[in-house]
Amino acid sequence: MRRHDAIVVGAGPAGSIAALVLARAGVSVALVDRRRFPREKACGDLVGPRGVQLLDELGIRVPGARPLGDMIVVAPNNRRVLLPALPGSSYADHAIAVSRERFDTLLFDAAVAAGAVTVQRRVTGLVYHHDVVDGVQLSSGATIRGDVVLGADGATSSIAHTAGLVDSAKTLWGFALRGYVDGNLDLPHIVLWEPERWKLFPGYGWAFPMPGGGINVGLGLAFGSDRGASRRAGEQLEDFLTHLKRQGLLPRSELRARTGGWLKMGVLGTRPTRSGVLLVGDAAGLVNPLQGEGIAQAMASGRAAANAIVQAGPRDAGHLYLRYLHGATAHHRTNAPVHSAMVKHPLAVSLTSRALSAPGIGQAVAGAWGLYWNDLTPDALPSRHRRLAAAATRAITAAGQHGQAAAWFTTQFATSAIR
Ligand SMILES: Cc1cc2nc3c(=O)[nH]c(=O)nc-3n(C[C@H](O)[C@H](O)[C@H](O)COP(=O)(O)OP(=O)(O)OC[C@H]3O[C@@H](n4cnc5c(N)ncnc54)[C@H](O)[C@@H]3O)c2cc1C
Repeated sequence: MRRHDAIVVGAGPAGSIAALVLARAGVSVALVDRRRFPREKACGDLVGPRGVQLLDELGIRVPGARPLGDMIVVAPNNRRVLLPALPGSSYADHAIAVSRERFDTLLFDAAVAAGAVTVQRRVTGLVYHHDVVDGVQLSSGATIRGDVVLGADGATSSIAHTAGLVDSAKTLWGFALRGYVDGNLDLPHIVLWEPERWKLFPGYGWAFPMPGGGINVGLGLAFGSDRGASRRAGEQLEDFLTHLKRQGLLPRSELRARTGGWLKMGVLGTRPTRSGVLLVGDAAGLVNPLQGEGIAQAMASGRAAANAIVQAGPRDAGHLYLRYLHGATAHHRTNAPVHSAMVKHPLAVSLTSRALSAPGIGQAVAGAWGLYWNDLTPDALPSRHRRLAAAATRAITAAGQHGQAAAWFTTQFATSAIR
């Protein structure tokens, strides 16, 4: 096969955006995916405000997407808090809902229209020349040669593993299941759920309205580095759906098209570059460790890696890309330990969620809660919400290493108070 300047492995949002930006800049790029498009992808189907802005900047329209602004959080005691959608200097004041089948195909087609050469094959390994990565091996036995390989092949990236960039003991994993039900909702709902009283499920559930009707319903579980723990999401999904129906959030219709997927979070346990390889999107572990959002980060990292290649050349793009990642993942670095602490201390998280949704408090903190949770604080327009979210960031950063100890003390204190 012919040689390319760049080879992108995986045509999800990270890979297609990287290929599109490279092709538009005149770089010859092969975009390889094992699947034929359109293809399904387990997702909540919500592209966050940063993703909406990026699409706008790249001139990509998503016809038929459903704009979504404010979001409702349902606390374990069924109290509801409305998180307002606030405008920012570098992101839209809304998200969009669009099925991943449609969205990913649209991005794939845009990359092809820009000039990316597509190959429908599974990549089975890397090809080296004098110890430097020089291409990829395909399941057909053929190879594609190129100066740089972008690993955009998702959370369980074989490129990341083959290049020796993953330390499995340190990765922070989540697993989530989703399906669709008939019906409609006005606003997206995040549901904090206690399968057992005072023990918050380590993760959350959601019900997001889809364009043209229908609801995307799912349950996401966080559990650190032990991937065996993921089965709990499947075991408890039915109970969660029953809970939603009791709360009046879900019509009594059947869940269709149930499927699940991994989330690699918080940039832990994965080195994003090595000579000749750049990891983007889920392959690099760029999912928000607090709420599981990854599409916007995938597209932004794909664009950043492509721009680094255009600016510094395929062989020297790594340092520019790392500089981008350092700035873009500050929130992840602060909150990866928070994620770990939450998994270990369900009682503390139950208490916190109840306190945050208490009458008076909920309304007062909702704006900051939305900014903090969704990693929107640094670029929020000046407001009391931004000041509060920035103060929370400083406090949590300062708590740093002592976060787990604080959670333990809170738990002990609360347990004795409840008794
Ligand atoms: C249930 C669930 C719900 C979620 N909900 C949301 C949400 O609402 N909003 C949000 O922002 N994020 C959400 N996420 C996270 C989001 O789905 C990911 O962050 C996002 O898809 C990452 O994009 P990506 O391009 O890095 O990887 P992917 O979208 O996973 O794409 C990887 C691509 O690589 C291909 N591939 C893999 N291996 C190979 C190989 N060896 N050779 C060739 N091709 C290969 C795959 O076929 C795939 O097309 C959710 C995740 C899950 C599991």
